Amino acid sequence: MRQVERVRNFILVGSLLVVLFWSLPSFGSSIDSKKYSRVIWNYLETLCAFGPRNPGSEGYQASLDLIRREGKKYADQVLEYPFLVRTSTSSSQEMVNLEFRFHGTKGGTPILIGAHFDTRPFADEDSNPEKLLEPIMGANDGGSGTAVLLGIAQYLNQHPVARPVHLVFFDGEDFGAKDSGLRLLGSTYYAQKLAQEEKAKWPYWVLIIDMIGDKDLQIFKESYSLKGSSIFLDKIYQVAREMGLKSFKEKVKYTIYDDHYPFHRMGIPSTVLIDFDYPYWHTLADTLDKCSVESMFSVFSVVMKTIKGL
Ligand SMILES: [Zn+2]
Repeated sequence: MRQVERVRNFILVGSLLVVLFWSLPSFGSSIDSKKYSRVIWNYLETLCAFGPRNPGSEGYQASLDLIRREGKKYADQVLEYPFLVRTSTSSSQEMVNLEFRFHGTKGGTPILIGAHFDTRPFADEDSNPEKLLEPIMGANDGGSGTAVLLGIAQYLNQHPVARPVHLVFFDGEDFGAKDSGLRLLGSTYYAQKLAQEEKAKWPYWVLIIDMIGDKDLQIFKESYSLKGSSIFLDKIYQVAREMGLKSFKEKVKYTIYDDHYPFHRMGIPSTVLIDFDYPYWHTLADTLDKCSVESMFSVFSVVMKTIKGL
């Protein structure tokens, strides 16, 4: 009798374990949240410690060095695309896009994931008129996207996905004054070069992340993204829903000229994930204390889970 009871108990516990094993969400493909939260936050802290990172500044140079170093460690291949921007009749500014390539396990056309690493050279939205010409820290605007992109590089090195992934760190997104036309410089340059190549080599999808570090994260659907990449946008929001993330809002809000726009114009499905409800946008108050690792990690997870299924 005792023997039978023991066997019964053994079977009972065994079946409970099996049920628990199978019911764990996405067992086998879960992301180590502790590790990658730390990785991403460390990158953001490091970038902010460099100071403002507008083209030509010391912080900009240090950012380039950091990105190059991490690329060497984690990417299958690192490419550089230097270009010169004429800023007036007599002067110009050197800029460069950096690209990490991951070849993927199955091949096919690549997914391009991009973020701008430059920060704005002046705080033109600051409430203090004396500060309007000072360069911003750009913890969220420039920093958060770059930190997540570097985190993705580390992750892909350990967990390759089927398609090739090209991580592009765009320069000069935030360079010029309003209406100067000197915006989206790196992505425009990249798109122009791409336009000269045969279409078979164009990205399968372009995904831009920008300003995703806000503590109060709200990512609405952006108009161009919906128009040109609705299937991909649906996938992202489905993943976010499954993860129970309230920060991804189903409503469409804002039409934004971000680094996805030059690609959207070429007819490539292009998406931007951005939280544009950020009171510190283009002010000196866009600092580390306004950012949250939970926000950044949630975007990182959604992106990684989405591209795993493509
Ligand atoms: Zn900006």
